[in-house]
Amino acid sequence: MDTRTLEKQFAEQFKTIDHVVFAGVTHPKAVELAKRIVEILPDHFSKVFFSDNGSTSVEVALKMAFQYFHNQGISKHRILAMHGAYHGDTFGAMSVGQRGYFNAPFEPYFFDVDYIDFPERENEDVILTEAERLFESEEFAAMIVEPLVQGAAGMRMYSPVFLDRLTSLARKHDVLVIFDEVMTGFGRTGKLFAMDYCVQKPDIVALSKGLTGGVMALGLTVATEKIYNAFLSNELSKAFLHGHSFTANPIACAVACASLDLFESEATWVGINNVAMWHENLANILREDKYVTNVRQQGTILAFDISINGENSYFSSVRDKAYQFFLERGVLLRPLGNTIFINAPYCLSKGEYEKIRVAIHELLDLLNSPKI
Ligand SMILES: *Cc1c(COP(=O)(O)O)cnc(C)c1O
Repeated sequence: MDTRTLEKQFAEQFKTIDHVVFAGVTHPKAVELAKRIVEILPDHFSKVFFSDNGSTSVEVALKMAFQYFHNQGISKHRILAMHGAYHGDTFGAMSVGQRGYFNAPFEPYFFDVDYIDFPERENEDVILTEAERLFESEEFAAMIVEPLVQGAAGMRMYSPVFLDRLTSLARKHDVLVIFDEVMTGFGRTGKLFAMDYCVQKPDIVALSKGLTGGVMALGLTVATEKIYNAFLSNELSKAFLHGHSFTANPIACAVACASLDLFESEATWVGINNVAMWHENLANILREDKYVTNVRQQGTILAFDISINGENSYFSSVRDKAYQFFLERGVLLRPLGNTIFINAPYCLSKGEYEKIRVAIHELLDLLNSPKI
């Protein structure tokens, strides 16, 4: 992949305006980025709010949803989220994430959230019935999900058909739908956005990570005209009063534009499709291994679980040992619990993929060997 244009745009922006506080002023790269993002999202998205990381883009989405109703004098205070969710590490984002180990010290300060179970095919109808029952209270301002793939929960995947049904239910009860595409956005799932697999689109989308190709810190929260209009007023109290020092940093915006240039080039999509194809082949082989369960793939994400009975095996705590095992072979994989996943960059070469594949096979050979 040609990164020279990215370097050039980075350097040019550095020489033009490296930073300006994004309050009462704008700059060309923010304008360009906003226009281009709106163009590649579904038609009803029209307004872009800038911030500087994924957690904040989620935080902004939640605040927008609450204030959307507040500005109209409607009292709605509840949020629906999904068990296993990860939306970031700030308070709002933690509140809508999976409760437990990682955020236990802060739990008393979280706001009220109702959770639906993660959809496995057999429980989908039960979950939707539960969601509908909750929505009927008319107390819900929004629902938030990681569309199609829950990242931190172990790359758990679910169907766009389920998500369409859930989104439709929310719509029916005037509940705003937030997709957290911080991880799934920008080609990760095989299409530009996970929502591109869905018929029903969200009202608000949170973007970060792949937005700048992972090069600079930037977050966007994109909303519809309907949401924007609830804030449009001469009264300051109706305004969305949220900003950070590094909101819409010009260099970050320039890099995001350069990254969007790459998505317009065929080579990027060849890269994405190659990774997806190599994953598919590897998935078929992994399904035959007796220590591997639950092989799943969505675009450029491949994940599988290592399942070992008995505590005293070499890999009883898969995470730490596998992590070290891969590192020693020059491969940086970060297993989540007993889940091993490959979330590959799209510029990965066949040779580099081979290196990962071989390391995984070596790990499985070790597990299958009679010595342990
Ligand atoms: C990484 C991630 C976040 C948090 O983004 P940060 O930039 O790390 O704050 C939020 N949601 C999802 C789905 C993520 O994967």
